[in-house]
Amino acid sequence: MTENEWLRSENPATLLGFNRNYDKRLSLFAVACCRQVCHLIPDDVRRVIEYIERGIEGERFGKSFPSVREWLQRLASENNRYYDAVSAVECALSITKALQYRHFDLSRHDVIVLVHQTAEYAYAAAPSNSIRRCQANFIRDLYGNPFRRCHIDSSLLTWNSGTIPSIAQQIYDKRIMPSGRFDNSLMGILADALEDAGCDNADVLNHCRNEKTHIRGCWVVSSVLGKVYPAS
Ligand SMILES: [Zn+2]
Repeated sequence: MTENEWLRSENPATLLGFNRNYDKRLSLFAVACCRQVCHLIPDDVRRVIEYIERGIEGERFGKSFPSVREWLQRLASENNRYYDAVSAVECALSITKALQYRHFDLSRHDVIVLVHQTAEYAYAAAPSNSIRRCQANFIRDLYGNPFRRCHIDSSLLTWNSGTIPSIAQQIYDKRIMPSGRFDNSLMGILADALEDAGCDNADVLNHCRNEKTHIRGCWVVSSVLGKVYPAS
């Protein structure tokens, strides 16, 4: 894959196939796909998406996990109407569990397959080019440009009594629901603050100002907040 193909692809499967990172960003991608179709699922399944997000944040799933998964599987099989969207949630739950507990009964290959399936189920639930295009944008938002690595200078983080991490935390906490996307106007404010602090990295500034799809795991916000994603 060339850099241009990475930047322009509207096919999430192609981008996922190129990506070699194996960490909780796969869960964040899966959850973002579920949120694309959360208007098509019952309220109690929507709460499972929040349960998965708490798991990504580090909350242990505990004993409720098998029963939640079985309930989702039953619901999907009994309700044709919900099948694809609920199956996406079930995949996202299993991915997150697998990344949370390494001894869970899924191999790395199984998890990667489930990530692809989550995207496919979301597409099947609401088939449109924009669903796939957004999924491709989620991946770029999570992983940045693998051809041009950049990092945020730590000196920017202490500028003006920590204004930049404070804006990033606000962005992280105040997502637009139910999509879970970050507020683009706040992303613009983050870019302005970074620039005022002396950041002249065009990749960072353009990402905040010009990209319109930002989700939890966004590489700029994560860098500012010091959220690292060690490989599992
Ligand atoms: Zn972003």
